[in-house]
Amino acid sequence: MNDVTAAALAPALFTLTTGPVNCYPEVLSAIAKPVLYDYDPAFLAFYEATVLKLQKALRIQTVPVILQGEPVLGLEAAAASLVAPGDVVLNLVSGVYGAGYGEWLKPRAGSFHEIRVAYDEVIDPAEVAAFLDAHPEVTLVAICHHDTPSGTLNPIEEIGRVVRAHGALYVVDSVSAWAGVEMDLDAVGADLLVTGPNKCLGCPPALSILAVSDRAWAKMEANPAAPRSSMLSILDWKEAWRKENPFPFTPSVAEINALDAGLDRYLGEGPEAVWARHATTAAAMRAGVVAMGLELWAARPAIASPTCTAVKLPAGVDETALRTLMKRRYGVVISSGRAETFNRLVRIGHMGPTAHPLYAVVALTALGGAMAELTGRAIDIGAGVAAAEAVIRG
Ligand SMILES: *Cc1c(COP(=O)(O)O)cnc(C)c1O
Repeated sequence: MNDVTAAALAPALFTLTTGPVNCYPEVLSAIAKPVLYDYDPAFLAFYEATVLKLQKALRIQTVPVILQGEPVLGLEAAAASLVAPGDVVLNLVSGVYGAGYGEWLKPRAGSFHEIRVAYDEVIDPAEVAAFLDAHPEVTLVAICHHDTPSGTLNPIEEIGRVVRAHGALYVVDSVSAWAGVEMDLDAVGADLLVTGPNKCLGCPPALSILAVSDRAWAKMEANPAAPRSSMLSILDWKEAWRKENPFPFTPSVAEINALDAGLDRYLGEGPEAVWARHATTAAAMRAGVVAMGLELWAARPAIASPTCTAVKLPAGVDETALRTLMKRRYGVVISSGRAETFNRLVRIGHMGPTAHPLYAVVALTALGGAMAELTGRAIDIGAGVAAAEAVIRG
């Protein structure tokens, strides 16, 4: 094995990705706790307490649902459970995840529409309002909050107001935003919001978290197409949180232990403080990127996510070469683009434990250094660090 291969196979010193992310230390300790039998009354009580803690963290009126698989399970389950053959669905697409969600919605819907914008842009609430005015028959609207492969943040609260006024059900993928982005779920008014512990909550990838409105429960219960006795069933888990009720199947005990520790961490630090930490890290990163003469992917800084910074690749720079060099030289692992954004940008995650401003300095040093080495261009890393530090100092 040569040195380059050895460096590629070595564990990263800094995992600054957009998910999965490295876990908080207290989460790692929790994974090592004894795995209780799921019908041990101690575990039944713990599961109930964790779900109620999750409700507190989400700040919602209804009891949330945990599905026992990483958030893609929750997203597919939401489409399968809510969409009935007569539904007229509007899918809002500003990136790879939004487009992908259409693949689950379309085959289940009576008819299917999309509004699409460029992947460095976000959905305009006025455009949604105009579409719904012209299509009063729409019964369900879906959107991805933070379309992670482009690092842009849709205005889900404003769009939620439009959807509510129209009366359609509102489905939101907030997997990579919730717990990292300032948000008020009551104001968003989603009927089904899907998130997960493996991004901003700093837990491993294994669970889906669903905030479900009373209206969405009623829709699922009335929907003959909604899965039952299935991994995709949300209905099967509706009452499973109560300690006197059975589980449909075995929950992921170790991951529930981890989630509980992640929630303690989030509530203990305080959601407002956690959101501020994410926002400052991203602002420092953006300032440094610009100061080094590199370009942000987002069309405007105002739509760039606080949980991820996407940086445009200059012409001629290969993304794999860049990320490989960042790891080999600096021990820093960042994320690639996906599908349409692959080899057009790279992404630095600011999620959970890595949403600390000093990690922006680490990422800027590795990014600037590797970019300079690959292009032969002079890149002023000092200016990038100074710009980031100025944001940190406030
Ligand atoms: C991470 C993520 C998911 C979960 O999917 P992965 O399998 O982890 O890619 C879903 N939606 C969004 C927007 C995400 O960022």
